[in-house]
Amino acid sequence: MRTVEEHQRIVAGLIKSRAAQQLSLADSLGLVLAADVVAPLSLPGFDNSAMDGYAVVADDIATASADTPVRLPVAEDIPAGRTDPLTLKPGTAHRIMTGAPVPSGATAVVPVEATDGATDTVTIRAAVRDGQHIRRAGEDVTAGTTVLRAGQVITPAALGLAAALGLATLPVLPRQRVLVMSTGTELVAPGTELQPGQIYESNAVMLAAAVRDAGAQATVAPMSADDVDAFRAALAEHATDTDLIITTGGVSAGAYEVVKDALSDQVEFVKVAMQPGMPQGAGAVDGVPIITLPGNPVSALVSFEVFVRSPLRAAMGHAEAHRPRRTAQLTEDLTSPRGKRQFRRGVLTGDTVSSYGPPASHHLRWLASANCLLEIGEDITELAAGATVPVWDLS
Ligand code: AMP
Ligand code: MG
Repeated sequence: MRTVEEHQRIVAGLIKSRAAQQLSLADSLGLVLAADVVAPLSLPGFDNSAMDGYAVVADDIATASADTPVRLPVAEDIPAGRTDPLTLKPGTAHRIMTGAPVPSGATAVVPVEATDGATDTVTIRAAVRDGQHIRRAGEDVTAGTTVLRAGQVITPAALGLAAALGLATLPVLPRQRVLVMSTGTELVAPGTELQPGQIYESNAVMLAAAVRDAGAQATVAPMSADDVDAFRAALAEHATDTDLIITTGGVSAGAYEVVKDALSDQVEFVKVAMQPGMPQGAGAVDGVPIITLPGNPVSALVSFEVFVRSPLRAAMGHAEAHRPRRTAQLTEDLTSPRGKRQFRRGVLTGDTVSSYGPPASHHLRWLASANCLLEIGEDITELAAGATVPVWDLS
């Protein structure tokens, strides 16, 4: 039997980064920058007003106060977006709005609140310092400065900065394109009628969501019956423009193990010393990496967490590819099988953790309300309440 770490290494070795691409800002959120971003221009691009008010020569209104207001003729009106170059003559004012270019010759802006707001001759009731209420060109960003670093995760604010710099695209490590395909003749799609012996397919929607939650792109192929030819044909049809295939089911020890039967020459089928999730497979089909997960829904999702999620994120450049790991105090006694790494579903509350639901791999209900996985070592067969256990924080 393979250890968890051995199989993790093999899966990680299969999943490769795509070449960096320039993607639109809208498509870049959450992706990792593939190169530094250097500002092509300065921000602000020109001296502009920080207030709605009046551009003036500060010396002209040095004596202005509520008791001794200064009156200046208003020579121009400058809304934001006015583009013609303007010059302020001493002894005059220009009415100016926030973000509008400060006329040459002006040394400060008086906020409208310190005036009567007039458009012909303005009465000013307060003095201003030289430079006051003017945002200087380049005070935020100087052209040529590196403003975003390769390896950084692109946030809404990073997108705002890129757009402010006039960039329409960013160099990113693109999303991995993952095809999810479930197998099983007993499966029918939710929303259709169930015949005796049939069950609703639940792995594909769950794993596709887990793939998207990891930041990758998921496509769900129609589920395949346990028929080798049909399965092979479906794979060939759907695994185009795909970086990774994830299948579920058909890999254990019974008969009609369709994935095993169809891919035994391209995929290594192994047992991993873990519970749930013992039957696993990894390989490549026509050059596309494939991870074949077991069919039990809990096994499938736990296996995805343990083997696929981190390398998938690492391939997209995420430095923090792993779920946060920590320890917590167990609230009850537990037993665990010798020789297997057990991943129990748990509820983490502060520094304590309770195991949640039975360990068996078909108890999806408990998984849906768990917020962590307890990782119980191969040698451990019993844990007493109060013991310290490693947990993977899924929240
Ligand atoms: P298998 O790994 O194909 O032997 O399946 C193991 C168990 O998981 C069986 O009880 C299957 O019916 C169930 N199962 C397999 N695939 C799915 C699926 N996509 N959705 C729900 N249950 C599944
Ligand atoms: Mg099956």
